Amino acid sequence: KNLDVHLRFLENAAGDQIMGTVYDLTHVRHLEKIQRDFVGNVSHELKTPVTSLIGFTETLLDGAKENPELTTEFLTIMHKDAVRLQHLIQDIIELSKDSDHVSDELQTIELHDFVLQQLEFYQHLLTKKDLTVNVVGAENVFYQTRPVFFQPILKNLLENAIQYSPEHKNIVITYKVKEVLEIKITDTGIGISKEDQERIFERFYRVDRARSRHSGGTGLGLAIVKEYTEILGGTVSVESHPKLGSTFTVTLPIN
Ligand code: ADP
Repeated sequence: KNLDVHLRFLENAAGDQIMGTVYDLTHVRHLEKIQRDFVGNVSHELKTPVTSLIGFTETLLDGAKENPELTTEFLTIMHKDAVRLQHLIQDIIELSKDSDHVSDELQTIELHDFVLQQLEFYQHLLTKKDLTVNVVGAENVFYQTRPVFFQPILKNLLENAIQYSPEHKNIVITYKVKEVLEIKITDTGIGISKEDQERIFERFYRVDRARSRHSGGTGLGLAIVKEYTEILGGTVSVESHPKLGSTFTVTLPIN
């Protein structure tokens, strides 16, 4: 099934001959399967909130809208479903970028400012959960990269550190440039077991589906981190202990 055979019939002085070339398609088939699984998973993930939205709108239209309390309750759930759909669509669009992405010219960024800018997006959530963040790294450290890929790496790791930290905890972001750029994001949150650490970078893998769904997670964040780190020629790893916290380390080459 994984072999593609091309045959040619030749006629020459030695008589009839058959020439053949055999192509091994194992790798191609493997990629096709990943693609099919992804589409299957996406369809499933999209179906859940859409089914819920249809169910609640129908119930409201059938008369539940006469009850103000029920209306508020249903609209709250519907809003959550819509936000989930929005996150899924954003992540799917994000994953469709590949290494030939057009608008990804190299830019030089100043790391300290860049990290602070990313943090600003989460100020509201940080205040709400009373989380503190320490940024450890020198100022005026310049790094040349493709921000289209670099920014989502930082964004997703930061988002997870916040998401999976209980209230009143601390997050530390460390960066240093030597032969490579090394960024570490450490939280003192719920942590990840050894078995789950092996799988969290897979698309749609979530340790606790219900919890992740409740918090608006799509299960695609770390897949984006891994794929983009690889596009930039680097690596990502995790060290974690359940109930103690996690450290994600991204290492990227210096251009
Ligand atoms: P999600 O959208 O669910 O956060 P991710 O791909 O970003 O998806 O992460 C996959 C899973 O890995 C999460 O569902 C969560 O269980 C686990 N995880 C990721 N980051 C952390 C973290 N900092 N602390 C604890 N668990 C984490």
